[in-house]
Amino acid sequence: MGINITTTEKVKKYLKEIEKKNKELNIFLEVRSEKELLEEARRVDDKIKSGRSGRLAGYVFGIKPNINVVGLHASCSSKVLEDYLSTYDATVIKKIKDEDGIIIGMVNSDEFACGSSGETSAFGPVKNPINPKLIPGGSSSGSAASVAARFCDVALGSDTGGSIRNPASHCGVVGVKPTYGTVSRYGLIDLSMSLDQIGPLARNVADAALVLDVIRGKDENDSISVDVQKLNLNELGKKKNFRVGVLDLEIKDKRIQKLIADKLDEAGKKYNWKIKKVSIQNVELAIETYYPLVYTEFFSATRKFDGRRYGKKIEEACGPEVLRRIIGGAEITKAEHEGRNYHLALRVKKLIEEEYESAFKDFDLIVSPTVPRLAHKIGEEITVEEMYSYDALTIPSNLAGNCAISVPVGFVDGVPVGMQIMADKFNEQKMFEAGAMIEKLISEEGRG
Ligand code: GLN
Repeated sequence: MGINITTTEKVKKYLKEIEKKNKELNIFLEVRSEKELLEEARRVDDKIKSGRSGRLAGYVFGIKPNINVVGLHASCSSKVLEDYLSTYDATVIKKIKDEDGIIIGMVNSDEFACGSSGETSAFGPVKNPINPKLIPGGSSSGSAASVAARFCDVALGSDTGGSIRNPASHCGVVGVKPTYGTVSRYGLIDLSMSLDQIGPLARNVADAALVLDVIRGKDENDSISVDVQKLNLNELGKKKNFRVGVLDLEIKDKRIQKLIADKLDEAGKKYNWKIKKVSIQNVELAIETYYPLVYTEFFSATRKFDGRRYGKKIEEACGPEVLRRIIGGAEITKAEHEGRNYHLALRVKKLIEEEYESAFKDFDLIVSPTVPRLAHKIGEEITVEEMYSYDALTIPSNLAGNCAISVPVGFVDGVPVGMQIMADKFNEQKMFEAGAMIEKLISEEGRG
């Protein structure tokens, strides 16, 4: 980053790209004024010149609109909050600003982070920069697309069941879901508070690691956040002998499965990785376990959108997917059910968590495709079950509370495909090291 190009020049370049292509791609919902941005960029350039700059000097960020940035709209891509101007910075935003990162604007997403395709936004679907006829994935659709379209360097998204890794996979960029508790959720408008994590999307593994290293850490405004070890970015890309488990699960699209298997095989040979199949017994229950949790927690989280405090009454202004979850959540929450479904889901969540913990005694990493299917065409009718199935391989890491990265490894039918590399809780270092090794393998093949 920043080689031979000043922050000011870079911001100008990004603004030009946005000006040229955003109408078509529908990625940014709000871009800050050029005047403000250039003033800020000049300040950063002055700091760089005098050697006083922060770790993110020269980095330009797109932000998912469920994260509060003072003075910008945290609309959650919804009519409900379209006029809601944030009055404070989320902890992650404060940390980015403290290290001289520049926020260029707020991107589009699925409404309230509910979705896997970027089509549930109240402001129109986000398009995939690789092929604008296709969905970019979701719900952090604009976050992934903004990075892929070269509208910014990096972006923040949120991941409850795959919403960072899924669009990263479809758009051919890197996306990271950190271990639950690594990143403060203060200032994130929650979907499901026991699963949500904010994380980075970037064009390469090193940038994603740097951003995570800046935003991580204990925050007294979020009681589940913890102090985690600093990442050692110098180790990225060095050869390591990992014990790798390949998730033993047949997916429908054999082309995706084969691409992942082939790349992993090559990595195994090149890096001397020990690769074995690993089966996680309850992994097939992931989707059924996830939705009762999300519906229930989302229902509860949305009670504040009653039209008196923030924006409009949610039931009156939201789209069908958000409404489905509110109605479903209200039902599950009814007193007569005595919390049965929610508690059953929590029990299976715990089982899945324990299974992964025990698998990570034998393996450093567990690898699978990020998404089991290719991106569909925007507007194509697919069933709710099909839409939910996009997340079959990403949800397990949210349920288990561990960390996972999606790294682009190639294309099937011209559509980008990501490899998901999962590591045990608070083992982001290993996850990034392996991600960087895969990235290196792919880029060397590209050159060779
Ligand atoms: N697609 C999943 C859902 O709709 C995941 C969403 C997310 O991770 N924010 O809930």
